[in-house]
Amino acid sequence: MAVFVLDKRGMPLMPCSEKRARLLLARGRARVHRVMPFVIRLTDRRAGECEFQSLRLKLDPGSKVTGMALVREHDDGAAIVNLFELVHRGRQISEALAQRRAFRRRRRGANLRYRAPRFNNRTRNTGWLAPSLGHRVDTTMAWVTRLMRWAPVSALSMELVCFDMQAMQNPEISGVEYQRGELAGYEVREYLLEKWGRTCAYCDGHDVPLQIEHIVAKARGGSNRVSNLTLACEPCNRKKDARDVREFVKDKARLARILAKAKAPLRDAAAVNSTRWALFIALKTTGLHVETGSGGRTKWNRTRLKLPKTHALDAACVGLVDAMSCSPRPTLEITCNGRGSYQRTRLTAQGFPRGYLTRQKRVRGFQTGDRVRAAVPTGKKAGTHIGRVAVRATGSFNIQTPNGVVQGISHRHCTLVQRADGYGYSIVPSREERESGAGTTARRAPHAALSLLGMNAEVSRATR
Ligand SMILES: [Zn+2]
Repeated sequence: MAVFVLDKRGMPLMPCSEKRARLLLARGRARVHRVMPFVIRLTDRRAGECEFQSLRLKLDPGSKVTGMALVREHDDGAAIVNLFELVHRGRQISEALAQRRAFRRRRRGANLRYRAPRFNNRTRNTGWLAPSLGHRVDTTMAWVTRLMRWAPVSALSMELVCFDMQAMQNPEISGVEYQRGELAGYEVREYLLEKWGRTCAYCDGHDVPLQIEHIVAKARGGSNRVSNLTLACEPCNRKKDARDVREFVKDKARLARILAKAKAPLRDAAAVNSTRWALFIALKTTGLHVETGSGGRTKWNRTRLKLPKTHALDAACVGLVDAMSCSPRPTLEITCNGRGSYQRTRLTAQGFPRGYLTRQKRVRGFQTGDRVRAAVPTGKKAGTHIGRVAVRATGSFNIQTPNGVVQGISHRHCTLVQRADGYGYSIVPSREERESGAGTTARRAPHAALSLLGMNAEVSRATR
C-alpha cells in the first residue's frame, strides 16, 4: 500500500511507496502521523515546494460494501495508488433501532397510564434517509474527507446509476465505445437483469447463467430493442428456439405477465438507489469535480482490463478509463464498528436488565475500541498482544488480537497505538499475492513503523 505523506504543516503531499517511507523514517526526515491507514509527516518540507500529479478518488457505492480507489492519472492512462473497502453496518443499525422501538413500546404499555396517540404529528425533511441508509452516505463522506486531508485529491468519480439509458437507446450520442455498441451491450444486460429480477422469464430459475432472449425471435423479424428482450436460462432459451412466445408459453397468466413487463420501462431506471443520489449531492459539496459513471460501464472497463471482481477494483473501473496499470496490491478493509452504545443497561432476550455499563467510557486512559499494544512480562499471558481493547472498570482489559481474544490484561501493560475512531482495519492481500503465497508476514511487513509497533501480526485474513 502506498503511504500517505503530509508536509510539516500537515498539508497533503503525494503518497509515497512503503520503501521510501521506511527510509524517510529511518533517516529522521519524517515521523508517524497515524498508524491505520499509515500516514507520515515530513519534518523538512512544505507543500508549496512540491509538484503534484493528478489524483482521483473513485467510489463504487454498494449496499454492504463501498469500494474506494485512489488513482494517479497521467497522459496515457492511470495507475492505482491505494485500494479501500468500506464495510457498512446498515443492518446492525436497523436492528438496534427495531430493538429500541420494541423496548419503548413495552415500557409504554407496562408503566404508563393511557396517553392519546400522537404518532401522526411528525414530519420528515425532504431528502430524509433512513438511519441505516444515511449511515452509508455519512461514513463514505467521512472517508472521502479523510482521504482528501491525507492526499492531494483533485477530482472524484462515482458510479451513480446502474445503467446509462442514453447509451442503450441512442447508439450514436458520443464516443467510440458507444458507436461500437459494446458498451451498449453491457448497459442492456445490466438493465435486463434489474428489470427481470435476475430470473428466467419462462421457468423462474435464478442463480443460473441467464441469456438474453428475443421475445419475438430474430428469425421472425424481432428487433433488438429492449422492449423485445427478456432473460432466459439456457435450457429454456434452447427449447423456445425460434418459436413465437405465444406458442411457447402455455400458461396464459405467465404469457400476459411477460408481454406486459416487456413493454413497460423499468421505473426510475436512473434513480434505482436513493442513497447514490444523496451521496452524489454530498460529494458535490467538496467543491471538486465529480465524474459519474454507470454500472454497465464499470463492468465493461473491468472486463476489458481483465481485473478480478472486487469492490475496490470495481471502484477503480468507474467512469472513463483508457488504460490502467495495476500491480497486485492489498486492499485496506475498513469496517464500520460504531463508537459504542448509548444504552447503559445490557438486557436479556426478554428485555430484563442483565448488567450495567459504566457511566464514563474511559478507564485508566483507555476506551473500548482503542488499538493497544500490551507487553506482558511474566505469567500465563506473557508476550506481546496487539489489537482492539475492551475496557473493564476493574482495569483488567480484554484484547482482541488476530489470533483470538486475550482476557485479563492489566492496564499497566498497555500502551496506546491509535485511539478508537469507530472503524476496524485489516489488510486483505490481492488475489495474485495470495496465489503466489506471498501473503506471509515477511513480505507483507507494511512499514518500518508498523513493524516497530509489531503490527505485522495485524496482517490477518490471508485467505478470504
Ligand atoms: Zn428457464
